[in-house]
Amino acid sequence: MYRSGERQVAHETRETNALVENNGLLRYANALNFYDHPPLFDVTVDEFETTAIDRLRVLAEIESSLARNRTWEELKAITYAQYMKYVPLHTSTFTDAVEERRKDHLGHYVLRLAFCRSEDLRRRFVKAESVLFRVRFEQTEIELRKEFLNSRNFNWIAVTQEEKAQYHQELYSMYQSPKQENRADAFKKEKFSKVRWTRVPDLVEARRVFLKSGWAYVPGREQSSIIFQEFEVQLEKALEATSRLIPRLDEDSRLIPVLDNLSQGFVAGIASEWMNAAGSSSSSDIRAEMVDGLAKKHFPMCMRGMHENLRRDHHLKHFGRLQYGLFLKVLGLSIEEAVAFWRKSFDRMTDDKFSKEYKYNIRHSYGLEGKRANYPAKNCLQILTSSPSDVGCPYRTFSPENLQTALLSMYSQEGLKSSDLPEIMSTVKAGHYHVACTRVFEITHASCGVAKGEGIGGGESVTHPNQYAARSMELGKSKKEDDAME
Ligand code: SF4
Repeated sequence: MYRSGERQVAHETRETNALVENNGLLRYANALNFYDHPPLFDVTVDEFETTAIDRLRVLAEIESSLARNRTWEELKAITYAQYMKYVPLHTSTFTDAVEERRKDHLGHYVLRLAFCRSEDLRRRFVKAESVLFRVRFEQTEIELRKEFLNSRNFNWIAVTQEEKAQYHQELYSMYQSPKQENRADAFKKEKFSKVRWTRVPDLVEARRVFLKSGWAYVPGREQSSIIFQEFEVQLEKALEATSRLIPRLDEDSRLIPVLDNLSQGFVAGIASEWMNAAGSSSSSDIRAEMVDGLAKKHFPMCMRGMHENLRRDHHLKHFGRLQYGLFLKVLGLSIEEAVAFWRKSFDRMTDDKFSKEYKYNIRHSYGLEGKRANYPAKNCLQILTSSPSDVGCPYRTFSPENLQTALLSMYSQEGLKSSDLPEIMSTVKAGHYHVACTRVFEITHASCGVAKGEGIGGGESVTHPNQYAARSMELGKSKKEDDAME
C-alpha cells in the first residue's frame, strides 16, 4: 500500500523509533507511537476498512465529548473506555501487544489517507488524534513513558544547576508544585529544560513558564506540553504532505470508496453503524398493537416523527415506509406483525390495493421477495447524509423554531423542559446533531437513572435509531422491575 521510497525510508530509520527489528520481525518498542513511519505489512481491504472504522468510533466520541464541553477527567474516562473496546492498547508489556499496536498503527494511517483531503478534516483529525495520544500518554506507566521519551529527540535543552540558581527567583515565582508536595521541596528536586517559547504556547498563555530571550523554561512535570505540541505539529505536516500525494491514490478503485465513506462519517461526526442493526432484531416479541406505545416512550425523534405522520395521514411516502419499516423490523416486528401493522395504518385503502401495491415491498424488506437480501436499518450517518429531507434527521432538517416546538410536543411528558432547549439548540447550531439527540436521550431517561454525560451508556453517543430505541426499552424494562421490587 505504500510506495517503495517510503518503504526504504522507514526501513532505514525504524530502529530509531517506535518500530524496532527483532530477530527479523518488526516489533513495536512502545505502546505510545508518534506514527513517524507508515505500516509496511500486507493488509486485506476488509482489514483496511474495519480497522479504520474502529478507530473512527473512538475519534468521533472524542469530538462528541469536546462538543459537550466535558471536563478533561470525564473525557479521559470515556475515551479510555472507548479505545479499550475498539482499539485496545495496553500500555504495559502484554502478550497481544504486537497485534494491538499493529492495529493502532494501521488505523491511524488509513484515517490519515481519509482525512488529509480538506483543511477542515485535517484540523479535526489532528485535534481528535492529539486528544487520543494525550489520554494514552497519561494512562501509560511512568517507566514506559520515560522509555518512550528517551527514544525520541524532543530538542529540549537541559537547564544546568547554575542556570537554575541564576534565575531562581523567576523560576520559583512561576512554579506550581504537585498538590500533595511542599512547594519549596518540590522546586528543589525539579529539573528544568528550555525550548523556544513558540513550542509551548499553552504554558505561555497560562503563565506557567519563565520566559527569557525567546526561551521558555519548562519544569519537568510540564514537559508533556512539549510532547503534545510536537505530536500536533508533526501530524499537521504529515497530513499536508499526504494530501499532496493523494491524487495518485485516486486510481485505486478499491480504496477510494472506503476512504470516501470514512471521511463522510467524520463529517457527520458519527463513526459507523450500530452493530445490532445489520438485520438482527433487538427484541423478538413486538406486536403490531404495541408500536404506538413504544413510539411515544422509546423512539428517537426521526422515527417518532415518522410514526406521528403515519398516524396523522394514514399513509407514508415510499422512502418513509422503507426507512421506518426497516427500523421496526430491527426493533423486533416479525413479518406477520409488520403486515398487520401496515395494513391497519393504511386503513383508508382497500385490501386489494394494499396487497397489490404494498405487501410485496414489506416482504421484500424482510428478504422474502426479490434478491432475498437481509436489508439493514439505516444508521444516523446514512439518515443525516443521504436520506431525503422529509425523512432525514429532524435535528438537521427542521428550522430552529419547528425543532423546539416538536421537541416539547414529543418529549415534555418524558421530562424535557423549555429550559433544556438552549443547550440542545446550541449543539444543533454547531452541527453536532447526534450529540443533541444524545442529550435529549439523557434528559428523557433521567428518571431511569441516566445522568448528564452518560449518553446511551458509558458516555457513548447515539449513532443509530435502533440503538436509541433498544437502550431506551432496556432502561424502561429495568425501571419497571425495580419499581415492582419496591
Ligand atoms: Fe434519528 Fe440519529 Fe437523528 Fe437521533 S441523531 S434523530 S437517532 S437520525
